[in-house]
Amino acid sequence: MERVLYVHVPYCKRKCLYCDFYSITDFTSQDIYIDALLKEIDRIEEIKLKSIFIGGGTPTVLSNFNLERLLKRLSKFSAAEFTIEANPGTVDIEKLLILKDNGVNRLSFGLQTVQDRLLERLGRIHSFEEFLKNFELARKIGFNNINVDLMFDIPGQTLEDWKETLKRITDLRPEHISCYSLIIEEGTQFYDLFEKGQLDIADEDIDRSMYHFAIDFLKEKGYEHYEISNFSYLGFECIHNLTYWNEEEYYGVGAAAHSFIDHYRYSNAADIKRYIQDVEKNIYEDKTFISTEEEMSEFMFLGLRKIQGVSKKVFTQRFNKDIINVYGNVLEELIKKELVIDDGKYIKLTTKGLDVANYVFEKFI
Ligand code: SF4
Repeated sequence: MERVLYVHVPYCKRKCLYCDFYSITDFTSQDIYIDALLKEIDRIEEIKLKSIFIGGGTPTVLSNFNLERLLKRLSKFSAAEFTIEANPGTVDIEKLLILKDNGVNRLSFGLQTVQDRLLERLGRIHSFEEFLKNFELARKIGFNNINVDLMFDIPGQTLEDWKETLKRITDLRPEHISCYSLIIEEGTQFYDLFEKGQLDIADEDIDRSMYHFAIDFLKEKGYEHYEISNFSYLGFECIHNLTYWNEEEYYGVGAAAHSFIDHYRYSNAADIKRYIQDVEKNIYEDKTFISTEEEMSEFMFLGLRKIQGVSKKVFTQRFNKDIINVYGNVLEELIKKELVIDDGKYIKLTTKGLDVANYVFEKFI
C-alpha cells in the first residue's frame, strides 16, 4: 500500500500562547536545517506516495529560496495530494505562486477565529483581514482545495463569536474545515496562566454547545462530518490524515517527526541541532517495535475517530483475527452504555460517544 510523507518545518515567527508543537522563533539555522531535511528526503526510495504534507511550525516562514529548494526536492515524488500549512500572516502573492508552481495542490490555513480580539488572545500574528486577502489570492491563483483550521473554547469566546466564525468561513466555501477545541497543554503559556487561575476557559456545557452547533451548521452548509474534528465537501477529505486514522504507514522527515514503517516507529530528535547531527550519522533518536497488540489498539482508537468507524472486515484482513474475539468485552460494555454501535459492518461512536470520545479510546489502550 502506498505511504504518505510528512515534512516538519520547525520555525514560527512567534509562539502562539496555546501551542505545544515543536517550533522555534530563531531562524538562524534555517539553511542548514533544510540541507539536513533534503538529505533525509533523498533517503526515501519510494517514489509513488499517496500524499505529502508540509507542516510545522510554519512552513510558509521559510525564505523563498529555501521553500523552493524543499519543494523542488519533493517533486521527485508523485502524490495525488500535496498540502502545505500556511499561516495567514506569512504568505503573499510571490510565496503562493512558488507553492502553486511547485506542485502544492492543497492549502491549509491556520486561521482559528474571525474575531481579531480573540486572535490576539491566542497570540496569533495575523488579523482576519489578512486571512481574507490571502484566501482570495489563493483562489485567484487557482488553489481549489483549501482547508481552514478553526478553534472553539478560546478564552473570552462566546457562542455568538463561534457562530459568526462558522458563518463567515462557510460563506467563503473552503473545501475542508477543521474545528478543534482548545486544549490547555503543559509547557505552554496558557498552561501557566491556567495554573494561576488567570485563564477564563469555557465550561463543559458551552464547549459541547459549540461543538454540536458546528456539526449541525456545517452539515446544513453541505459539509460531511467525516472525523471527530473534520468536515469536508464530498471527495475533499484529507487523504493524509485519513492515513493516520486508518493506522497505515507513513514517512516523517524533519525534527520531531515520526515514521511508521514495517511495524517500527522511528522518531527524530525534537531539537534542531541533534536532528542535524543524527541525519549526518544516518540514525534516529528512537526506533521502537510496535507489537500486534499495540497495532490493534491503535487501529481501534484512531479508527474510531472516523465518523464511519472501524471496518470489521478490514480489521480481520489486517490482523487475521475477528474484532469481536479481541475486543468483545470492551465493545459489549461500550454498546451497553450507548457510546458505540455495531451496525454489522462498522463499529462507530454514537452521538453520545462523540462527546466522551477520549473515555472510549482509553478502553482500547
Ligand atoms: S503558528 Fe502554529 S506551530 Fe507556530 S506557534 Fe502558532 S500554533 Fe504553534
